[in-house]
Amino acid sequence: MERTMTSSFLRAEARVALAGAIQVMDKLCGHFVEHGRVERFERSARLDFVYGSAAVEADDGSLVVRAEGADPTGLAYVKWSLAEHILGFAEGETPRISWTGDGAAGSPLPYFREMRVVSTTNVTPRMRRVRLQGPDLARFATGGMHVRLLFPPKPDIAPQWPVTGEDGRPVWPSGDSRLVMRIYTIREIDVERGEIDIDFVLHEGDETPGATWARQASPGDIVGAMGPAGGELPEADWYLFAGDETALPAISRILAELPANCRATVLLEVADASEEQPLRSAAALDIRWMHRNGAPAGTTSLLENAVREVGVPSNEARRFIWAGCEQKSCRCLKRLLRKEWKVPTSEHQVVAYWRTGHSADKVEH
Ligand SMILES: Cc1cc2nc3c(=O)[nH]c(=O)nc-3n(C[C@H](O)[C@H](O)[C@H](O)COP(=O)(O)OP(=O)(O)OC[C@H]3O[C@@H](n4cnc5c(N)ncnc54)[C@H](O)[C@@H]3O)c2cc1C
Repeated sequence: MERTMTSSFLRAEARVALAGAIQVMDKLCGHFVEHGRVERFERSARLDFVYGSAAVEADDGSLVVRAEGADPTGLAYVKWSLAEHILGFAEGETPRISWTGDGAAGSPLPYFREMRVVSTTNVTPRMRRVRLQGPDLARFATGGMHVRLLFPPKPDIAPQWPVTGEDGRPVWPSGDSRLVMRIYTIREIDVERGEIDIDFVLHEGDETPGATWARQASPGDIVGAMGPAGGELPEADWYLFAGDETALPAISRILAELPANCRATVLLEVADASEEQPLRSAAALDIRWMHRNGAPAGTTSLLENAVREVGVPSNEARRFIWAGCEQKSCRCLKRLLRKEWKVPTSEHQVVAYWRTGHSADKVEH
């Protein structure tokens, strides 16, 4: 191994018997280059993520993985992510992954908090803010804005929460204790008070566990939160933000945290004028609201048309485009930015937040 690991970090190791170890290491390198920094040597590799690092060694019959993280959450994310991908890439094999070191199997997930509803308010007719309170939230204020909320099966029965598995992935309760998971944005966090605000879109649909939970939430209700995730946006002088209601909490929070010396054009698609919200920022904002005026969410090309109209300035040294919306709109925006305008991937991020006609259980983010 060309580089030694940092001694103050939390560490774990797994020796995985695997006939195709070298091929799996190749695939890990190919995959993680999209998500971090990869250094490849002849029989080993070093992977650096925002939340931690891993050193991988491969020979003909085994893969040795050493994970490290600056804190329990960082280490747990490295272990989870490596296990998930090793199992996914080990074609025709089901290797046993068993970590030794920090973060024992069976212990609570370090990135999990049980949260309790404090209050609910309607921000707009179709956006409900739920304030949640929980312990030790400092780690939820850095490293990303998103959380996976875990909704218990029955409000009156104490839920079972996931725990750390032997292979580093969470072990989920099953059967009657099965949890429903949905991704939401921490709209605001107050670490001292131990509170986070989540803004839920009260969208249409027959079975909508997330929206329905928010509609019915009342003080004292319990929900699980796993996170944070999503990373930080790169610094830029000029930003373009585009999103529908589901991305409005993320865009609002990003704008509130932008410094005064940058500019942002903000394109927001909402149902109608009653769904507009005041947006605060130290940065200079050009905000354009667009209304569907009766058209169902996910059926218009309002966002793409607006992005086309704004364009991407070629004279900005540091520019960044961020979009979050329905999957089809996302595809159109990616095509526009990547294929038509050839904007480098380092200068944009387009994320599918939901998919028309599909529950989030089946949406690939
Ligand atoms: C990183 C990330 C951050 C997110 N942050 C937020 C947030 O802060 N607030 C928020 O409200 N959402 C947010 N979302 C979107 C949210 O996770 C999805 O809308 C999710 O589908 C809601 O779950 P549900 O149980 O209500 O509906 P599901 O069970 O997932 O879906 C049921 C039906 O409702 C439809 N549907 C889902 N969402 C919408 C919608 N917005 N409008 C119309 N129809 C819809 C589906 O197509 C499906 O037919 C985020 C998503 C991601 C990936």
